[in-house]
Amino acid sequence: MAQKGLLTVVSGFSGAGKGTLMKRLLEKYPESYALSVSATTRRPREGEVDGREYFFVSVEEFERMIREDELIEHARYVSNYYGTPRRYVTEQMEAGRDVLLEIEVQGALLVKEKYPDALLLFVTPPSAQELERRLRGRETETEEVIRRRMRQAVTESKAIDCYDSILVNDDLETCVDEMHALLRSRHYAVERNAEFIRRMRQELAGRQDEQTDPE
Ligand code: 5GP
Repeated sequence: MAQKGLLTVVSGFSGAGKGTLMKRLLEKYPESYALSVSATTRRPREGEVDGREYFFVSVEEFERMIREDELIEHARYVSNYYGTPRRYVTEQMEAGRDVLLEIEVQGALLVKEKYPDALLLFVTPPSAQELERRLRGRETETEEVIRRRMRQAVTESKAIDCYDSILVNDDLETCVDEMHALLRSRHYAVERNAEFIRRMRQELAGRQDEQTDPE
């Protein structure tokens, strides 16, 4: 049953391990998923590569992308712009892959408005203490940024009610398997299989026409 891919928005507190989770999901199931690469005006962190983690662009370039409607959504987050380029998302969905967007809350809600079928998934560590521990373990952020991100988490936690599903990322492999099961399950929805159902009904009707009832 060839189907178009589905859109999944993955949000969660900065430090929830969303990046690692999605990287592992893609390693395990490369044919099923495609990860959208966002554009941002923030500076690259150590080890980040342009075109892999993000397309790192200037504010001028970002504003041009907004004007020319090249982005599905965009938002400002901790004084930088972030946005989702439209083209890759559309191409991958057409190719039958589920596209994952790792974006923050404001962007997630914009995507849901444009794509009501999109699944909004919220990823969280098991506790606030664990969140802070992971942010500190990253060692690429200043104390000020860590405190800002913890404050941002308080705000973001209030938006969880707008999401469809929540995943607790405690053990990575368990979380990857749970995520895969959750995303695959959507493909079995009756309304997603209208073409198969139509053909099955047609075939059944055809067979009935061929059969003559024994008297
Ligand atoms: P970071 O700077 O830690 O890589 O990302 C900061 C936040 O921006 C994260 O919550 C991330 O999910 C979000 N983000 C990344 N790309 C996009 C995007 O294209 N659009 C929106 N709205 N948020 C994004």
